[in-house]
Amino acid sequence: MPFCNSRRWHLRQLMTAASLVLLVACAEKPTAADAQPLQTVPAVPAPAVIPPVVPAGENLEIQPTQTFAEWQSGFRKDALAAGIRAELFDRAFADVSPDMSVIKADRSQPEFSRPVWEYLDGALSPVRVRKGQALINQYADTLQSIEQRYGVDRQALVSVWGMESNFGQFQGNKSVIRSLATLAYEGRRPGFAHAQLLAALQILQQGDIEPEKMLGSWAGAMGQTQFIPTTYNTHAVDFDGDGRRDIWGSPADALASTAHYLQSSGWQRGQPWGFEVQLAKGFDYSLADGATRRTVAEWMQLGLTLPNGANVPAGSEHLSAALLLPAGYRGPAFLVLDNFRAILKYNNSSSYALAVSLLSQRFSGAGLINGEWPKDDLPLSRSERIELQNLLSAHQYDAGTADGIIGANTRKAIRSAQQSFGWPADGYPTHKLLEGLRNR
Ligand code: CA
Repeated sequence: MPFCNSRRWHLRQLMTAASLVLLVACAEKPTAADAQPLQTVPAVPAPAVIPPVVPAGENLEIQPTQTFAEWQSGFRKDALAAGIRAELFDRAFADVSPDMSVIKADRSQPEFSRPVWEYLDGALSPVRVRKGQALINQYADTLQSIEQRYGVDRQALVSVWGMESNFGQFQGNKSVIRSLATLAYEGRRPGFAHAQLLAALQILQQGDIEPEKMLGSWAGAMGQTQFIPTTYNTHAVDFDGDGRRDIWGSPADALASTAHYLQSSGWQRGQPWGFEVQLAKGFDYSLADGATRRTVAEWMQLGLTLPNGANVPAGSEHLSAALLLPAGYRGPAFLVLDNFRAILKYNNSSSYALAVSLLSQRFSGAGLINGEWPKDDLPLSRSERIELQNLLSAHQYDAGTADGIIGANTRKAIRSAQQSFGWPADGYPTHKLLEGLRNR
């Protein structure tokens, strides 16, 4: 395996990497996009996979009922009962104290979302494409072995690698134990953090990594794959054969672990992720709700065409597909297949999955989008989304809890309101709709 000389990547502060902040920070921070696979707000929750935050309303103050030392003492009992050795626990927790930057990140609710087209511009930058192309060549033998074992194509693997950690460059430099202990003590999802922390201790006990080298994001996503500890325990593999599953330092282990996870998530060998389509005038946009699945052939019978007169990919006619409108009916449209869904299981954001898919094609010069983005139509801010939800519900279109998250209920309410205006019912939140409801 050509990894004996893999170098230690220099870890940088995430927040200094302006062009990557959204990619990486989004990969760490559950946001509005959590609740909307096949929707649009281009912010991305953690990979493989951090569940959505239970909406905390406006009350973000969490007052622990015990001191950190009391919490740690109780957690130590849980860990030992779960089979963690006392000596290992005490070594891992030596000098651990709550990390206030983790608390701050956990409680932040960004007001503004980046438009999907800007997110894609960053994700698909020429620099990243060239770097990925070089790595596909550099690791050709390893990637071929991984393809043979897991059935996931090399372009997709390198694309995920680029999106998750910029090919290993931005892995996060926080102690995973400290971050998860902080979140288990006073985070917004203590049960989740508790389970991840136990899994992290199991990783240390297996000897895959030393405590001080177990670094990751504030949310506990680790290494070149940005796996959370439970995903690591179920899917990380030692592909370079040195006896350790090293997703931090070994690209072979990281790429194979990604392949293993995608294989388990339903990846279909040799199938395309999907393709861009054009919709006929008068198309029923309510079919683009993420839940409606038909075969490619059935979708095409509704008058869909491909850009430039292209045909659907050979053999895809019978495959199950959903229609994705990342920026509503005015923007580009895509039919997305099973491999797109597998990518969503890595990171449940349609913008992320679209970026991974298009980047994997850009490595061979394809993956360009023909449709125009509605750049005059910026995403609603968080407070505008909350106002929209309140207005929808006030007009008898039940948008559920006004939490700023455009989930299935809100999209359904938006479609109903759009229909009442006689507008295309794409379920996409716009300023025009907000204005229309304000003035009704
Ligand atoms: Ca290894």
